[in-house]
Amino acid sequence: MSKKVYISGAIAHYDLEERKAAFSAAATHLRAQGYEPVNPFENGLPQPGDWREHMRVDIDMLLECQYIYMLKGWWVSKGAKLELDVATSCGLKPMFEEDDVHNEEHKCCICSKTFYGYGNDPYPVKEEGECCETCQWERVLPERYKLSKEREQV
Ligand SMILES: [Zn+2]
Repeated sequence: MSKKVYISGAIAHYDLEERKAAFSAAATHLRAQGYEPVNPFENGLPQPGDWREHMRVDIDMLLECQYIYMLKGWWVSKGAKLELDVATSCGLKPMFEEDDVHNEEHKCCICSKTFYGYGNDPYPVKEEGECCETCQWERVLPERYKLSKEREQV
């Protein structure tokens, strides 16, 4: 099964070279995850160009995909909002760049295990770093509770 994913994000109002870099970084990232990225910068039209003409070609490309990947900051873009609307109306699955943070790999600063997702604040067990969920519950929260009890007694 093909896993084509259309990359959507703000293009206007930004530096074009920076945008190109952001789109192609997303394409690399998606390819590494086994997707087939579709980059609207490669729609064959001159950039910048006529907005309507771009939308027409881009929507065509979009509808060949099973997924849409929304780059950070997509919400400032009229085109990206529209693409997300069309995509979800036509049954494409949306993915969001900012959600990828949840899947990042971290190393727990307390038990040294690898975990995914949001790290937790290890204070007061450690001053710096991020700890896993288990350490959060078994080590950090009891310590914090103890500390607050001690403070109450002062
Ligand atoms: Zn841990």
